[in-house]
Amino acid sequence: MLTKSDFVAYIDSPRHLWAIKHNKLTEVEHNAFLNHLFEQGYDVEEYGEKYIREILVPEYEVSSNNILFQPTANDGEFEARADVLIKNPKTNKWDMYEIKSSTEVKRQHRYDVTFQSLVFGKNYELGEIFILHLNPDYTRTGEIDIAKLFTRTNLTKVVSDLIHEVQILRYEALEVISEDDYSLVQSCIRPKLCPCLGICHQNLPDYSIYDINNLTANEKKIRELEKLGFISIDDVPLNFALSEKQRFQVQIAQNNQTYINSNSIEKSFEKLQYPIYFVDYESFNPAIPMFDSYKPYDQIPFQWSLHIKEDLTSELKHYEFIETQQIDPIVNFLSAMQAVVGTNGSIIVWNKAFEGTQNKRMGEIHSEFKDYCENMNSRLFDLMEIFRDGLYADRKFKGSYSIKKVLPVLVPSLSYKGMNIAEGATAMASWNDMVFGNTDDEQKAQLRADLLKYCELDTLAMVRIFEKLAELL
Ligand code: SF4
Repeated sequence: MLTKSDFVAYIDSPRHLWAIKHNKLTEVEHNAFLNHLFEQGYDVEEYGEKYIREILVPEYEVSSNNILFQPTANDGEFEARADVLIKNPKTNKWDMYEIKSSTEVKRQHRYDVTFQSLVFGKNYELGEIFILHLNPDYTRTGEIDIAKLFTRTNLTKVVSDLIHEVQILRYEALEVISEDDYSLVQSCIRPKLCPCLGICHQNLPDYSIYDINNLTANEKKIRELEKLGFISIDDVPLNFALSEKQRFQVQIAQNNQTYINSNSIEKSFEKLQYPIYFVDYESFNPAIPMFDSYKPYDQIPFQWSLHIKEDLTSELKHYEFIETQQIDPIVNFLSAMQAVVGTNGSIIVWNKAFEGTQNKRMGEIHSEFKDYCENMNSRLFDLMEIFRDGLYADRKFKGSYSIKKVLPVLVPSLSYKGMNIAEGATAMASWNDMVFGNTDDEQKAQLRADLLKYCELDTLAMVRIFEKLAELL
């Protein structure tokens, strides 16, 4: 029996479906990020059902007999569960609704509902097929306006165009399941995200072709290297066509070299003006807006850490802020910032796209801070760009320019190891637990301390990386 989730796994990667059906996948450990996604999914589902009861049922003018929540169907070979079927009194056919927590219809959703409509089509006379997803333009004002929170996208035509392809694909998926030799089944090209490397990549080298910047976006090239038996980055031939950036990464790896373009780093640092502020934000992005003026998935910046270097020789100062009340944090967040970050001097961040977008959005949500946020954005300096642009490159970065990869190479004495909170997704989930969760005072105090410690390390790491680079010039 092939279920809809099996089919989705097959579309993602045939070998992955094989592994699931042959009980070869070890249980996926739910990390903080996955848990956050699941929680958002449950929230959206709850509101989706509300939308159906409060908006669709009156619109269709149907009795409860003609509305089926989470019906299942199977035809002996295939099995599916829909979110809602509603019998349309005008057409006497069943309209199908699938609730998705995204703000758009994705490719996977199209295949997913086509599979469903094939299975349900055997038992029900289907009418129109809809995806109910979050409306990216919805802005909360007061209570959630359920009618505006969702967008209804009619996929009936898309499904009819895909039906033939999906019919073939689902039989191919059944063949994959019955295959004894998994090596005959195509594996995915994203082993870095694999929950169980034992099947497809038993001997995956520590630094592989899958780590080459953006190479997995080009499946043909990855397959070409796999076919030649070149899995380690050290095996990539000199004449293998790569982009300039990819070739640079391979060269650094193969020569086991550290590359430092001091002239360009120096030029870049010339733009900096004291006092220098090293800033990092943490934020939480709920699917359902929690406060007025927020849209679905808008980030709620709840914490910052700041280290200040007044001039080259001055002592480092540290400031921090975290919101612990159940309120929109922006006003307190920015007021606290305004008290210590003046309107002159450079603001160093790691990945200015993130802090820059948060500043812009905070200025939109609370327009009294618009000028201040614009001023901050005009002074941002992205330390990450030194590494992203290859001005400093080292094999040990493995092609990444994340601060978590750069820090241990440049400043081995500082480390995220052993911290209760050591990455952004856990910080986000921890803040939600601390402020909105069922946690007692002691747990709240611990979470607060862990969050402050984590964010402080992020800015201290930037300071030390900056100092290390400055020393080299
Ligand atoms: S590498 Fe992992 S994720 Fe990819 S197909 Fe194999 S088992 Fe699945």
